[in-house]
Amino acid sequence: MKKVLVCGAGGFIGSHLVRELSRRGCWVRGADLKLPEFSPTAAADFMLCDLRRREDCLRALDFPGGAAPDAVFQLAAEMGGMGYIHSAACEIMHDSVLINAHMVHESALRGVREYFFSSSVCVYRDMAPGEPALSEDGAYPAAPDNDYGWEKLYSERMAFAHARRYGMKVRVARFQNCYGPEGTWRGGREKAPAALSRKVAETPDGGSVDIWGDGLAVRNFIFIDDLVDGILHLMDSDLDFAPTNIGTEEYVTVRQLLATIADVAGKRISFRSVDGPVGVASRNFSTERIRSTGWTPRHSLRDGIAKTYPWVAARVAEAAAKETSGFRK
Ligand code: NAD
Repeated sequence: MKKVLVCGAGGFIGSHLVRELSRRGCWVRGADLKLPEFSPTAAADFMLCDLRRREDCLRALDFPGGAAPDAVFQLAAEMGGMGYIHSAACEIMHDSVLINAHMVHESALRGVREYFFSSSVCVYRDMAPGEPALSEDGAYPAAPDNDYGWEKLYSERMAFAHARRYGMKVRVARFQNCYGPEGTWRGGREKAPAALSRKVAETPDGGSVDIWGDGLAVRNFIFIDDLVDGILHLMDSDLDFAPTNIGTEEYVTVRQLLATIADVAGKRISFRSVDGPVGVASRNFSTERIRSTGWTPRHSLRDGIAKTYPWVAARVAEAAAKETSGFRK
């Protein structure tokens, strides 16, 4: 039985990854500042800790019997949608670098054989709509649009430097925008699919929702189950010498994303453009490397939204019911 550590196991992708690793027969320890918000963790063991601290990283790596984990999945990060990324550059660059520096270094020193780091397509430059797909080397010369992307690029390099010196097998995935049930859906850190699902759920048929900018920015969204499957395909592959994009080839504008959500909700919804951080104009990345592992995404955007929207709508309904049952009206 493989014994693995998942850092960031209280978060969206980490909690789903823990569930899948456990289902596949691994003994999993989760580590995070918090437990998962929406359902109990599937981890055999869960450590509440602050991975910015070296001593907490050491505790998390100290497995029963004094052994090191067979594999570490590092997903803990300061993370959020465009609104958060543009307002929290200091937290992102300071905290995530500390987590990554301590975790990769201590994992290498403890003799962890396999290490996974969750990077992002935010490492790439802005693109014009219609540009041909960028492959993984297209991240250089580096020109990420935001500081979150710069932190990821630096931490990717730090992970590979440790692979070279210590012989640890390091895989790095650059995730596209991921969505699905049990993701952050309010509070300022939610990403576009969850934010728009919430707005559509809160808006009556025939109403309108606000979107940041003109809604013509081109994006790609990957459903959570497909992403987790991609991570596990990557870990089972020999792609350990360079980063690997994980995403689909279905590119849509933010307007099309909204239309898909409205269609799933069965509502007629229009939009109003308002000022807000839009991010890059366009994205288009090659998925050839991850597909060489045999992985393929199973959900179209519509399929994924059909599983996500009802979950967000149920949270919106619950929140509304709580509000009307309280004393503060
Ligand atoms: P998330 O915010 O839901 O999960 C991150 C987790 O890290 C949180 O539970 C948080 O509590 C934990 N964390 C933060 N600081 C910590 C600390 N000091 N000590 C311990 N735990 C700490 O985010 P997510 O969407 O699940 O993202 C997981 C990883 O994937 C992140 O590295 C993120 O940058 C990357 N990523 C996500 C997406 C996406 O679309 N969700 C896209 C690209 C990359």
